[in-house]
Amino acid sequence: MTNFSFDSQRPIVFCDFDGTIACNDVLVLACEAFAPEVTARVMPQLYSLELPLRVGVRQLLEGIPSDRYADMLDLARSQPLRPGLRETFDFLDSRGVDFVVVSGGVCGLVEAALGDLADRAVGIHAADVETTGEFLRVRSEFEGEVELVDKLSVVARYLGAPLLDGGFASDRWVAIGDSVTDLNMALAAPTTFARSRLKSYLDERGKAYTPFETFFDVRDRLAQLWREPALTAAG
Ligand SMILES: [Mg+2]
Repeated sequence: MTNFSFDSQRPIVFCDFDGTIACNDVLVLACEAFAPEVTARVMPQLYSLELPLRVGVRQLLEGIPSDRYADMLDLARSQPLRPGLRETFDFLDSRGVDFVVVSGGVCGLVEAALGDLADRAVGIHAADVETTGEFLRVRSEFEGEVELVDKLSVVARYLGAPLLDGGFASDRWVAIGDSVTDLNMALAAPTTFARSRLKSYLDERGKAYTPFETFFDVRDRLAQLWREPALTAAG
């Protein structure tokens, strides 16, 4: 059960999953493994932007037979996570800061890959799949015009409606991501962490961010940013 109540004075962290928490893109790996023909046809159309993500990702997932879903979860469980995540959760807990996972992938895969760490996030927002038919069926509470999961809509659910300039009333939220689906969230966030392709997208737009490779980088930078004002004043 997700608690969307939010205190504007308290920071909150929104973090992507594939390529950010998980070292690999688990969604793509699963589609390649369990719907290879559909993936070979659809992926080039996604990369060339012929297909919007919400259409392409749905085609990929709905090309996977439902009886392979258990194997997909096993694949997710075997995926390496970026180092320092557990320590970052410990740090955020010590500060009373919530951590929200926002993923354009599948909720079940995210939870399987996170394992016992899944409970450390106050919310995991991604697409859901139904496995009652021959092939997977996709449902997404936050489907946007372009994306299957519109990440800024998730942020808005926690922070309230965007202001006229597109920002939010809180200036204490954090976005963490690695790719184009994180771009809108990364541009809107007062504090942004980026790796991989997201860095060049942000460079092109002149948006400041902190590069990271592990969650230790994220934790240490947040500790620096959120240092007690009294301690800072005392030197
Ligand atoms: Mg990603």
